[in-house]
Amino acid sequence: MNYDVIIIGAGPGGIFSAYELAMKSDLSVGVFEAGHPLEKRHCPIDGKKIKSCIKCPTCAIMNGFGGAGAFSDGKYNITNDFGGTLYEYIGKEKALELMYYVDDINVSHGGGQTRMFSTAGSEFKKLCMQNKLTLLDASVRHLGTDINYIVLQNLYNELKDKVDFHFHTPIDSIEVLENGRYRVHYGSESSECDKCIVSVGRSGSKWMEKVCSDLGIETSSNRVDLGVRVELPAVIFSHLTDQLYESKIVYRTQKFEDNVRTFCMNPNGIVVNENTNGIVTVNGHSFEDPARKTDNTNFALLVAKHFSEPFKDSNGYGESIARLSNMLGGGVIVQRFGDLERGRRSNQKRIDECRTRPTLAATPGDLSLVLPKRILDGIVEMIYALDAIAPGTANDDTLLYGVEVKFYNMEVKLNQHLETCRPGLYVIGDGSGVTHSLSHASASGVYVADTILGL
Ligand SMILES: Cc1cc2nc3c(=O)[nH]c(=O)nc-3n(C[C@H](O)[C@H](O)[C@H](O)COP(=O)(O)OP(=O)(O)OC[C@H]3O[C@@H](n4cnc5c(N)ncnc54)[C@H](O)[C@@H]3O)c2cc1C
Repeated sequence: MNYDVIIIGAGPGGIFSAYELAMKSDLSVGVFEAGHPLEKRHCPIDGKKIKSCIKCPTCAIMNGFGGAGAFSDGKYNITNDFGGTLYEYIGKEKALELMYYVDDINVSHGGGQTRMFSTAGSEFKKLCMQNKLTLLDASVRHLGTDINYIVLQNLYNELKDKVDFHFHTPIDSIEVLENGRYRVHYGSESSECDKCIVSVGRSGSKWMEKVCSDLGIETSSNRVDLGVRVELPAVIFSHLTDQLYESKIVYRTQKFEDNVRTFCMNPNGIVVNENTNGIVTVNGHSFEDPARKTDNTNFALLVAKHFSEPFKDSNGYGESIARLSNMLGGGVIVQRFGDLERGRRSNQKRIDECRTRPTLAATPGDLSLVLPKRILDGIVEMIYALDAIAPGTANDDTLLYGVEVKFYNMEVKLNQHLETCRPGLYVIGDGSGVTHSLSHASASGVYVADTILGL
């Protein structure tokens, strides 16, 4: 099969490239995706018969149409302050313009009833500043896990007759042909194209590394974010979440001058397990459907760890810490803040008596046996700082789940068109290391498609 453009990966990056190419040109486009179509994506873990990862050939949570974002909370943050560094390549104005463009498409494909929140003009900026905290600027469209799914369904229905989708087709390698075209290999078959857009996300990071090494494309790396997920009664944060939905707040610790930040806030949401390469970590999401809302809010507190030479394996470091929590707790560990402060583990009795009812069945334990002191000290400092703007955050019954890890891909060396040193080979989304979010990944997809179309 020959195409004008081949897209590898059908996550938000790949989908928005395909959408743009299909809507604005007659180019032939083939999308190759390792995972299932959207409706066939089902994780077998049901908490009863199957309680832990059985290592499916492709992970239904991370792979397939919609990518890692398919069952996410669907928070599209429109900002250059976090979520990636796309603006370093294409400029701040262009990056924001494309994020709003993506938002328009989401809204017109089923997201119309959802709300856009904004920090603009919020009185919380001042309140944060007065308490040594910084509230980052952002607008956020919260689709919710349920509406996000509907938007993806609608996008697929619109694209399926204009673009060739090849599901269950992991690409093994990319070959550069003498005539400057590209040949992608899968099993014993192959397809050729003029332009190739690689959008393989976090799950494709190891593969991406190999492709870069095979094709002589430079990469660099070295960051991992580590921390806990905090769960508390929703009323404690309701003054913030009602107005902003998600607030990205940064605190600079007094002891080590590290930055601790809130991440992925889920008002009235649930805490969930996340499985990365067989290691169970923690995450959270929430639903738009009022019937599925809980009385709790959860968010992560993360510390970014950057390493310098000679250490290169930042993700390996994060994995080791997550593995330690799995070793001690058989999975995710939960601890009351009061127990952590008193230097004792939480046990089942203390969790049963806890006034914050956990939304995830995790193993009561002691996070100080898992997280490095520097990281844990920073988290404790930030909990007290947050208590000043949301009194009750530092209550004994606030729950901490560990560990939460955000892995980052290595950064692929790209020019301002997100093109590698191989002309016509583009790398977008989280797989490029440039983006770490739905909105940035999607915007990068649109940007590269427009570049190919000369728009
Ligand atoms: C549980 C969870 C919740 C999240 N919540 C949010 C949120 O609320 N807001 C937010 O901004 N971000 C969120 N994120 C992050 C967000 O999902 C990602 O930033 C986004 O999906 C990145 O898009 P992408 O297209 O770059 O990559 P991905 O979404 O990872 O898609 C890459 C696709 O490529 C495919 N692929 C990989 N290798 C190959 C190969 N060799 N051949 C063919 N196909 C391949 C994969 O199967 C996958 O489908 C969340 C992530 C998770 C896991």
